[in-house]
Amino acid sequence: YVYDFTFGDKDKKDLLGGKGANLAEMTRLGLPVPPGFTITTEACREFLATGSTPKTLSAQVAEHLEALEQAMGRRLGDANDPLLVSVRSGAKFSMPGMMDTVLNVGLTDETVTGLASQAGDERFAWDSYRRLIQMFGKTVWGMDGDAFEDAIESARESAKAATDVDLGVDDLRQLVDVFKGLVREHTGSDFPQDPREQLWQTIEAVFKSWNSERAVLYRRTERIPDDLGTAVNVVGMVFGNLGPDSGTGVAFTRDPATGERGAYGDYLANAQGEDVVAGIRNTVPLSELADIDRASYDELLRTMDTLENHYRDLCDIEFTIERGKLWMLQTRVGKRTAAASFIIAAALANEGTIDLDEALGRVSGEQLSRLMFPAFDLDESTEPIAKGIPAAPGAASGVAVFDARRAVQRADKGETVILVRKETNPDDLPGMIAANGILTARGGKTSHAAVVARGMGTTCVCGADSLTVAEDSFRTADGLTVSEGDVISVDGESGAVYSGELPVKPSSVVSYFETGEVPEADRLVAAVDTIMRHADAARRLGVRANADTGEDAARARRFGATGIGLCRTEHMFLGERRELVERLVLAETEGERKVVLAELLAMQRGDFVEILSAMDGLPVTIRLLDPPLHEFLTDLVELEVRNATEDVDQNLLAAVRRMHEQNPMLGLRGVRLGLTIPGLYDMQVRAIAEAAAQLKSDGKDPRPEIMVPLVGEAKELALVRESALKILEESGVEALVGTMIEVPRAAMTAAAIAEHAEFFSFGTNDLTQMGWGFSRDDVEGSFFSRYLELGIFPVSPFQVLDTDGIGRLVEIAVADGRGARPGIHLGVCGEHGGDPDSVKFFHHTGLDYVSCSPFRVPVARLAAGQAAT
Ligand code: ADP
Ligand code: MG
Ligand code: MG
Repeated sequence: YVYDFTFGDKDKKDLLGGKGANLAEMTRLGLPVPPGFTITTEACREFLATGSTPKTLSAQVAEHLEALEQAMGRRLGDANDPLLVSVRSGAKFSMPGMMDTVLNVGLTDETVTGLASQAGDERFAWDSYRRLIQMFGKTVWGMDGDAFEDAIESARESAKAATDVDLGVDDLRQLVDVFKGLVREHTGSDFPQDPREQLWQTIEAVFKSWNSERAVLYRRTERIPDDLGTAVNVVGMVFGNLGPDSGTGVAFTRDPATGERGAYGDYLANAQGEDVVAGIRNTVPLSELADIDRASYDELLRTMDTLENHYRDLCDIEFTIERGKLWMLQTRVGKRTAAASFIIAAALANEGTIDLDEALGRVSGEQLSRLMFPAFDLDESTEPIAKGIPAAPGAASGVAVFDARRAVQRADKGETVILVRKETNPDDLPGMIAANGILTARGGKTSHAAVVARGMGTTCVCGADSLTVAEDSFRTADGLTVSEGDVISVDGESGAVYSGELPVKPSSVVSYFETGEVPEADRLVAAVDTIMRHADAARRLGVRANADTGEDAARARRFGATGIGLCRTEHMFLGERRELVERLVLAETEGERKVVLAELLAMQRGDFVEILSAMDGLPVTIRLLDPPLHEFLTDLVELEVRNATEDVDQNLLAAVRRMHEQNPMLGLRGVRLGLTIPGLYDMQVRAIAEAAAQLKSDGKDPRPEIMVPLVGEAKELALVRESALKILEESGVEALVGTMIEVPRAAMTAAAIAEHAEFFSFGTNDLTQMGWGFSRDDVEGSFFSRYLELGIFPVSPFQVLDTDGIGRLVEIAVADGRGARPGIHLGVCGEHGGDPDSVKFFHHTGLDYVSCSPFRVPVARLAAGQAAT
């Protein structure tokens, strides 16, 4: 259950946690790490399962403690020269600030004197002691930190001390007394004076902190499994609070914001542990350490080099200097912004530190998509008024509105609105739809606000818990009040909230995709270019786009799409043309119908000419009309209302009543429409054929593919295909005819359907909707956040393909379809075609291409490259 730092290594994160594994790794590298040992996650898991520590643990800890005493040349509890240790949590995945650490364990009324005389510094000893009681109280007994902070505050006031460094020995001694009183008040007993008891209580408290409310919430948000447990690191204390030649700091081997190589970080003299992050006193930039302590600074830089070369990545570091001696207390491969991810990966590849495959693996499609949003053009002086969790990307400014109904009203008047709520619920949906951005004070990445915003592509910052949200205003931690109608800005990339409107700059990555140009000195674009080239060279999957207009098609092509995987024809029937459809449905004679069809034919031919020429030489999959017919007719309610007071066309009324459906998504739509409305699909096929013929005679190379939607039975497709082939033949045009696989029955009968299909395109939106039996248009705003909370699925199956269920349907249809027609061309055109995880699944399932919205094309290219390497 216990590993000395000299025994572990960085690959044992499962057992030792990230912190322990990396402390061991640094020890092996010969870096100056204080001696210590790690109690494994296994011990924690046993503790959490049984409620008590494993029987042999105390003997094992005693043994390692003895070794630690020897290495440090001090003994725990020695009244003259006490050993002090830190007891630090550290799970496999970093959970910043979620679990606990206690410093200075081993200090008691007795040992504090020994520490003081050893260090020759009484102030330091009492400062350490009050820190121990404070951290112990919070961690072990769950005491409220404010009580301690208040006591420090009043000590400072009565001593007229500007900061806590200015508190003298006597002030600190008194403070320790006050702290002890707080402990007695809270627990009814005294602060433990046995160092071993202190040690055990903290170890158990760290184990327990795995299940603290905030840790559980964090894991849910970050999708970290609940059953891993945390390791506990017991580390010999070194002291940054031993005077001005001591201190503590954090450092990064590269700038985590820009990826620039260098030494970045913060340093705080005469301080211990958390002081740097806690922002109690002002830190200085790391570079100033060079003036304070040149030798330590140089050693730190050398150490950072060693770590970068060893980990071959950006490392972040926690260090302490004790009277001119540098100690390393933590390192890990550091978090970074999306831009820095690309820049660092490409830089490491250019330096030859990693190869391009690895560079490609170090970035994510999610990061690329964030880089494609416009961003706020911030200058150094712009300070956020609050920070929350970035839940859906983008940069949005607008008037703060605190009520969904008022948000709709203001948006209707043309205002840009940021909906601000404590948290959202389904009643807020109309306001969320109307808003340009959403801000909540509560809830994490799976909260209602976050789920809905991501589904709609609306910028969202949630869980900005420093905000106090009232009926029509909020107050920030600094006491600033923002009232309804005041302009604010929310940054879905960083989670920052700003007062006022901020300028927005377009994404340089998007203009790179538009033009293919790499501006000189734009390191981000150069990095994206390097990585995208490699992804394109590596990938097997083709990437097409879903586009319905010539303009979208042209953009998709610039973004690297090699064809259109889904051209929807429905919007082509809206606007002025809607009435034509109505007339088609109402036509009483063959002659009347023919007139309408001829008009529609001419219009559709124009549509297809435009798209086919934008994609000249590349395949364009055109889906025949899909949505329920009633969507093209006058609204039933409206018609009934009018019917009560005025003359309405009774034929129309009757038809609309006849067409009205309870469950339109399961009604007269897709191929059913084609087989029910005579001449409709034939007209569309003819328009495609004529458009292609016209382009061919102009010397172009049109490549239409005709796709029949919503087929569930081979015969449906056979009928449509038979008459399509006849029309194609008449016009002397060649086109593939295939079908969507989007009804579960189609997947299960794929072999029979493949007899009549030259291609399949998986419509994973409908396949998910029908496979799960829930409607995409409704559920994301209603029970999805609850389902995510309950862990029924980790993420919306409309965002990331549910590979176990819906993915199985795809696999079956791929195998059976290929079995029946070996050369069948296979693609996917649902939203999932642009989701990185899903793209990887489609690669491994053996599809030929994915198709997604034009803006997701680069993301799909990247993911397809990653899947292949
Ligand atoms: P977190 O995981 O929250 O960063 P850590 O376990 O890293 O918590 O502890 C927080 C800080 O406490 C460290 O950054 C370091 O400065 C300080 N610290 C931890 N152990 C020691 C030690 N043995 N000696 C001196 N400082 C320590
Ligand atoms: Mg740390
Ligand atoms: Mg569909």
